[in-house]
Amino acid sequence: MAKLSDSITILKGVGPAKAKQFANLNIFTLRDLICHFPRGYEDRTKLVPIEKLEVDVPACFKAMVMNTPRTSHIRKGLDITKVQVADHTARLTLTFFNSKFVSDQLQYGREYIFYGAVSGDFIGFNMTNPAFESLDSQPVTTRRVLPIYPLTAGLNNGSVLRAVRQALAICDPPAEIIPEEVRQKYGILPAERAYYAIHEPASMAEAELAKKRLIFEEFFVFSAGLSLMRAARAEKRTAPYTNFEMRPFYASLPFTLTGAQQRAVEEILNDFRRGAPMNRLIQGDVGSGKTMVAAAAAYCAAGNHKQTALMAPTEILAEQHFASLNKIFEPLGITVALLTGSMTVKQKRIVRERIASGEVQVAVGTHALLTDATQFQDLGLVVADEQHRFGVAQRAKLSAKGDDPHLLVMSATPIPRTLALLMYGDLEVSILDELPPGREAVDTFLVGESYRPRINAFIRKQVAEGHQCFVVCPAVEENEELGIKAATVWADTLQQTVFPDLRIALLHGQMKGAEKEAAMASFARGEADVMVATTVIEVGVDVPNATLMVIEDADRFGLSQLHQLRGRVGRGKAKSYCILTSHNRNTETLQRLKALCKTTDGFKIAEEDLKLRGPGDFFGSRQSGLPAFRVADLSFDMATLKDAQQASADWIDAHGTSDTPEAAALRERIGELFQRAEGTMN
Ligand code: ADP
Ligand code: MG
Repeated sequence: MAKLSDSITILKGVGPAKAKQFANLNIFTLRDLICHFPRGYEDRTKLVPIEKLEVDVPACFKAMVMNTPRTSHIRKGLDITKVQVADHTARLTLTFFNSKFVSDQLQYGREYIFYGAVSGDFIGFNMTNPAFESLDSQPVTTRRVLPIYPLTAGLNNGSVLRAVRQALAICDPPAEIIPEEVRQKYGILPAERAYYAIHEPASMAEAELAKKRLIFEEFFVFSAGLSLMRAARAEKRTAPYTNFEMRPFYASLPFTLTGAQQRAVEEILNDFRRGAPMNRLIQGDVGSGKTMVAAAAAYCAAGNHKQTALMAPTEILAEQHFASLNKIFEPLGITVALLTGSMTVKQKRIVRERIASGEVQVAVGTHALLTDATQFQDLGLVVADEQHRFGVAQRAKLSAKGDDPHLLVMSATPIPRTLALLMYGDLEVSILDELPPGREAVDTFLVGESYRPRINAFIRKQVAEGHQCFVVCPAVEENEELGIKAATVWADTLQQTVFPDLRIALLHGQMKGAEKEAAMASFARGEADVMVATTVIEVGVDVPNATLMVIEDADRFGLSQLHQLRGRVGRGKAKSYCILTSHNRNTETLQRLKALCKTTDGFKIAEEDLKLRGPGDFFGSRQSGLPAFRVADLSFDMATLKDAQQASADWIDAHGTSDTPEAAALRERIGELFQRAEGTMN
C-alpha cells in the first residue's frame, strides 16, 4: 500500500517527463493527484440507436463494422480511413484522420461501442474520429461517466485518468474528517466513497453527490478553522486599556459622529476594556465615515501609550488617510507618519526609526508597514482598510507582530451574511448603516445609446460648473467582443471628437502601479476634467469634486461593483449623478440595473447580486483573500455553504478541543488549508 505523500513517480507510466507535466498542474504527490478533481463530466453511460443520434450531440452507440476499413493517402501528412458501421436501425460512415491503427483495430463483422457526434450535410450523416472500444474491454472512454480533468500542455485527459485510477488503487484516499452524525444529518457521502466517486462516478447523480461532499468538506474545514482562530484569539490576554478620555478628540472634529459611528466606537472601546485582543470588522458603505471610527480607536490607543498602524491597499489611499488623520491629530499633539514603498530608502529609514523609537504614534502606510523591517516600540492597534486584500492568512499572522495587537478591519463592500461568515468568520462585526447628515443620494439613471448627445451635454455642464467626471468602461482595449467600450479607445474618441477642449485622463489596470497612482493623484488634484477608466478606480480614492459617474455598458458589471463605482461620486457637497448606459435589451438585465437606480442600500444590492450571479463572480478572482478552494470553485453552492457553516459551528462547540482521531485529522487539514491560502495571496 502506498502513502498519500508518496511521489507520483511510483505510478506506472509516470516517468520524469510526465512528472514535469504533472508539476505544471501542481501535482507532485499521490494526494495532489487524488485531489485533482474533474472540472466536469461527460455522460457516456447511455447507448443510443444510430437512428436516434442527434446532429452535433455526442453520444454512445453500439454498432457492427460492415466492411474492412479503407485508408486513402490524400497527400503528405493526410490519410483518411473510412469505415461503414450499422446497428438494427441505421448505417453510418465513420471517418478517421491520420489514424492508421483503426484499420487494425476495427474488424469486419465485429461489434464495438463508439462515442462521437454526427454531423449532417446534404450527402448524409457522417461521424469524424469517434472514440471506440470493444465490448469485452474495461470501459475507459465509453459506457461510463467520463471525468474531464483540467489539463496542461502534453498531458491529455487519458493520462490523467489512468494515473488517478492507479493512485486510487494503491493508496487510501484522505482520511474522513466529517463526523458520522454530521454526514447523516446533511446527507453527505463518506470520504472514501466520495474520493472514488468524484473520479469514477457510476452515474451523473453520483458525481453530483461526490462533488457536494467535497465542497461541503472544504467549507467545513475552512469554517472550522475560522472558529478555532476566533477561539484561540479569545483566550489570548492583553493588558486592558484604562484611559478612555475621548472628549478632546470629539471636540476637535468639525462634525459630530453619526449614531452608527458612535455605536461602533463604543463597541471598540469595550473591546479595549476587556483585555483580550480585539478582532473586529467595520462594514459600512462608502462615505459612511469608517476612517473617523478608526481615528477614534487610534486616539484611544495613543491615550494608552500604544501605537497604531493603519494600512491602506494603495499608496495614494495611504497618502489620503495620512492627510486626513494628520489634520485631526496634529492639533491634539499626536504624531502621524507616512510610510510607503515609493519613498526613498533614506526617507523610509528615518520614518522607521521614528516608529521604532515610539515618537510616531500613528503610522499610516501600505503593507510595507507590517514587514519585518518595520519595528514598533509598542504596537497596540492595527487598522486594515479595504479588507479585500487583507485575507484570513494575513490576519492569522498578525498576532505575531507586536504583542497581540488589536485588529480593526474596515470594508466598504457590503457582504451578505453567509459570505461574510466565510471571509470574516473569525471577526466581530460593527455595521455603519447610516450616512453623515446632508449627504444626498447619488441620482442614478439607466439610458440607451440614443441619449448619447444628452450624456455628452451633461458631462460638459458638470465641467462648466467646475466639477469633474468619471467615465468607466468594461474593457481596456478594443477586443474580440465587439461593441463593448474600451477605455483606451473611448478616451481617444472623447478627446479627439467630442471634447477637444477638455482635459481627458486615462486610467486602467494594464498601466504600471506607479503610473496608475500618478494618474489618480493628478485627477484628484483637479488636473483633468474627465477621467476615463476601467474598474481600477473602484477602490477608495476620494475625489470630492467629482460629481458625475458615467458607466458604459453597465450590464457588463455586477450590481455590487456598480454600487462601489457609484460610491466614487457624491463624496463632496455638490449634488452627484450616476448614468448607466446599456445596449442590452434583455428584460432581466434591465430590471437588475433599474433596481440599482432605485436603491442605495449596499447590503440589499449585495444580496441581490449574490442571488443573481453567485459568489464566484461576487468576489471577482484572487483579490478576495479567500483561500483557493479546490472544488468549491467549480460550483459554489450556497445551500451547501450554509449547511457546512452550521455543521462546523455545532461541531466546534461540541468537540473543539477534543482529542478524537477525527478532530486531529480536521486540525491537520485546517493547517494545510490556511497554509495554501497564504500561498495564493501576495
Ligand atoms: P468611508 O471610508 O466610510 O468611505 P470616510 O471615512 O472617508 O468614509 O468619510 C467620508 C467623508 O465623510 C469624509 O470626508 C469625512 O470627513 C466625512 N465624515 C465622516 N464622518 C462624518 C460625520 N459624522 N459627519 C459629517 N461628515 C463626516
Ligand atoms: Mg474609506
